Amino acid sequence: MMTPSRGIPRPQIQSLDDILPHEPLLMMGAGPVPIPERVAKANSVVINHLGSTMAKVIDQVKSMSRYVFQTQSKWVLGVAGPASAAMEMAAVNLLEPGDKILCINNGFFSHRMAELSQRVKADVHELHVPVTESADPNRVREALAKVRPKVLSLVQGETSNTVCNRFLPEIAAIAKEFGCLVVVDAVCTLSTMPLYMDEWGVDVVITGGQKGLSSIPGVSLVAFSNEAWETISNRKTPLSHWCFDAKLAENFWHRDGYHYTAPVSGIMALHEALKIVCDETLEQRFARHLRCSKALQAGIEGLGLELFIGNEDRLNSVVGITIPKGLEAKQICHHISQVYRVEIAGSFGQPIVRIGQMGEQCREHNLFRTLHALGSTMRDLGVKVDQPNGMAAMEASLQSLPRPIHQVA
Ligand SMILES: *Cc1c(COP(=O)(O)O)cnc(C)c1O
Repeated sequence: MMTPSRGIPRPQIQSLDDILPHEPLLMMGAGPVPIPERVAKANSVVINHLGSTMAKVIDQVKSMSRYVFQTQSKWVLGVAGPASAAMEMAAVNLLEPGDKILCINNGFFSHRMAELSQRVKADVHELHVPVTESADPNRVREALAKVRPKVLSLVQGETSNTVCNRFLPEIAAIAKEFGCLVVVDAVCTLSTMPLYMDEWGVDVVITGGQKGLSSIPGVSLVAFSNEAWETISNRKTPLSHWCFDAKLAENFWHRDGYHYTAPVSGIMALHEALKIVCDETLEQRFARHLRCSKALQAGIEGLGLELFIGNEDRLNSVVGITIPKGLEAKQICHHISQVYRVEIAGSFGQPIVRIGQMGEQCREHNLFRTLHALGSTMRDLGVKVDQPNGMAAMEASLQSLPRPIHQVA
């Protein structure tokens, strides 16, 4: 006899095929981004998380990460979780209750580091940067002199308002004068633009899978400098987090041991994504991102639309477009998705819509489809745009910069 269920009825569930759109949307938002076939295939692999094959994979993931982070530090760790989990890993391991952290607040994401730090009872100070500007090294110096923090945190590219902290190397150098550890959120920028962890004296770099690296969301990376690792090793108070304990994570990432069951498939996907970056080389990848993003920007301006951030402080990894009067982000995103099958991102507190230029988004064919969809959407919604001019401006911009030699698909 079968045991009947107790009052909770079996739900009526649609199959995924019924739920997913028949024609996949082109993902041109602020992440997750499209993943290459090789990454998707790797993501279907499950093997023993503690066997010798996994050990080899982990070893290669660490070597490739060191190249992508541009560091010789041994202390690369993966974490099962979003990029925020990697941020949390930095915060909970480096900070003890009462420790001072100065967070450069460029907006939504860079403020998150302050929130995470608050939760481990750190003494949190924030330096607020005007919305459309990159952080000014002189103001950072003043704040450092006043606060004298143990840790300084900043974001390389603030995805929410599309500002790039272009003075990151100068700021890291100033932080060193004050003897503090520098934590950099490179979630949307890693492998899309230069970041030299060792050369710039950055102590912690954080990244996720689903942005510049074009891997899946849910497996993230963090790299600690020797100095940062020493700080963690010399902690006086026990860690309040078990999953994010770097010393426990070291078991898996550096001793072939057990911490928790690793996200095996996600690590396989990340391995392939990193391999693609290594094959392409950082130089070519940076050049491809710059060329495509600049072309997209030229195209958007060619339509007659306005970019939210001025040329110098503008992030190339995610491009912010000022919403024309009378429209709302939701309306634009809904229309471009429904009618043109292109997904772009809405706003995170700013009057903009955003188009991503990270990893696989940065392909010429994607640019043309996206710009066409954007221009047509604006026209459909009653905004006067010059579509032919936009397209021509984009093509002219592409032609003005040499196409990087190596184009991995
Ligand atoms: C996306 C993003 C995050 C958060 O990543 P999650 O994977 O959503 O946790 C943090 N910082 C920056 C700069 C980002 O772009």
